[in-house]
Amino acid sequence: MKENIIVIGAGIGGLSCAALLAHGGHKVTVLEKNSYIGGACSSYEKQGYTLDRSVHLFSLGLNGPFGKILNRLNLNNLEFVKEVNKKTAMKFYQTEGYYPSDFNVNSMINAMKPSTSNGERTEKATENAVMTRLKKIGVTPQTFKELGKVMASILTIRKKKLAQLYEDGLTVTQYINQISEDPFIHGLFAFILAGMFAISPKQASAGEFVHCFKTEMTTREGYQYPLGGGSQAVPNALAEGIRRYGGEIHINSRVDSIVIKNDKVQGVMVKNEMIKAPIVISNLSIRMTVLNLVGRDYFDRNYLAKIESLKPSLSSMTFKLALKEPLIKEWGCVNLYHPTLDDWKGKYGPGAPKSNGFFGPIPSNIDPSLAPKGGQVAIFGTIVPAKVTNWDKWQEVYYADLQEFFPELKKKISFMDVSFPKDFAKATGKPSGPVEGLALTPDQTGINKPSSVLPIEGLYVVGDTAGTDAHGIGTQLAADSGIKCADMILGKIEKN
Ligand SMILES: Cc1cc2nc3c(=O)[nH]c(=O)nc-3n(C[C@H](O)[C@H](O)[C@H](O)COP(=O)(O)OP(=O)(O)OC[C@H]3O[C@@H](n4cnc5c(N)ncnc54)[C@H](O)[C@@H]3O)c2cc1C
Repeated sequence: MKENIIVIGAGIGGLSCAALLAHGGHKVTVLEKNSYIGGACSSYEKQGYTLDRSVHLFSLGLNGPFGKILNRLNLNNLEFVKEVNKKTAMKFYQTEGYYPSDFNVNSMINAMKPSTSNGERTEKATENAVMTRLKKIGVTPQTFKELGKVMASILTIRKKKLAQLYEDGLTVTQYINQISEDPFIHGLFAFILAGMFAISPKQASAGEFVHCFKTEMTTREGYQYPLGGGSQAVPNALAEGIRRYGGEIHINSRVDSIVIKNDKVQGVMVKNEMIKAPIVISNLSIRMTVLNLVGRDYFDRNYLAKIESLKPSLSSMTFKLALKEPLIKEWGCVNLYHPTLDDWKGKYGPGAPKSNGFFGPIPSNIDPSLAPKGGQVAIFGTIVPAKVTNWDKWQEVYYADLQEFFPELKKKISFMDVSFPKDFAKATGKPSGPVEGLALTPDQTGINKPSSVLPIEGLYVVGDTAGTDAHGIGTQLAADSGIKCADMILGKIEKN
């Protein structure tokens, strides 16, 4: 039986689910409140530069859920540049030069390999090369050895042990503490976690982190960036799939409420008009869907308590630099790192933000079409809490920090757009503008993630806030949730 299906929101989760349902033969209508599609994963053009609305790199590219969806749709309309991992470097605070990330990780793993007859020599040579660089930033040989052990433990973990990590509900800090208590190592993982999950390692699920980090590091795919339009290329490719299979996408169409009768979905209200459909899929956060679009009266107390207890990740402050001339020549991504939070202590006075750095893709070094000839787009994002009152001060502090990493920055800037939590909230409809709609903590990942199926017939939620056993980072997680929900609906309808 073919059904009318409404999808509220054209974020990655909504578009992924809608495309697969349209391909399955259903009459799909996507209603998006913004004048553009993609939600957090979108871009805009300004004075000849294409700037991402947030700050994005994409885990696994077409080898993850995006590839899975586009293959099923028979579409070949999205291309990723895969070399980003190889072209990623760390820049340490008050230290000259760049540290290629790839080189360091592989070298550390090699250094941990057991010695063979000539292994001793290889191990020492590798260790020396890496140590010479790391010594400059105060890393001792003991720290280096322990870091190698942590890396090896993550990258060689077996399925059974990984399942146990999820089950035990360990945090990343607890997991690393089993191997090392070294503050440099914990600081480094806090930085990695900030970029991946936007929460502290004291809160992050060790199972989900090890799962994502291992996949990231051990496949040749790693982080990627799409060609042709910045991050916007991803939702655009999915939208083409929806239209190809007869679906419709309406922008500037905010859904005000979901209509329920006798515990069954009837449709949605847009500008005082009801649009009828027996199946409604919401790409809003599960919390907003339940509490705002449907309303508390339709759910029992236990379900409401569970929904109200869900926590988002931190948000972000993002500096989008449109540069007249290149600031960073050779890299596709430069992560700016303060090895210890002490670097900040006392520097900016009480109440100043604390951060250990910035995640920094340089999109136009990956796709030159994103900047005018000779120019460059560099984006630096850092995580921040949503509730800050003096954003001007925070911007001043972080910008001063950026300038310490790049003293020549000011004279190269054509213009700079800065995004705050309120901007991400506007793009997504998620009130605190989180990086991940649901923080990837042990009680909110894997089988503990809330189901896409709501306790109202015909109502579902997709995106980064719902989907039991959906995995991955950000966009990948949202797409995985979209696939799982579409397959569930397709299976159900076919059975009926
Ligand atoms: C600063 C930042 C950096 C990030 N970095 C990365 C990264 O590097 N890599 C990565 O993979 N992920 C990253 N993410 C996360 C990733 O962007 C999100 O997890 C993902 O895009 C969320 O997708 P979603 O399906 O949940 O939809 P969302 O992006 O949340 O979109 C929801 C959509 O629903 C629409 N909507 C809301 N209310 C209504 C309504 N009432 N009616 C109609 N439409 C409505 C919104 O306008 C929006 O289009 C980042 C996010 C942020 C904010």
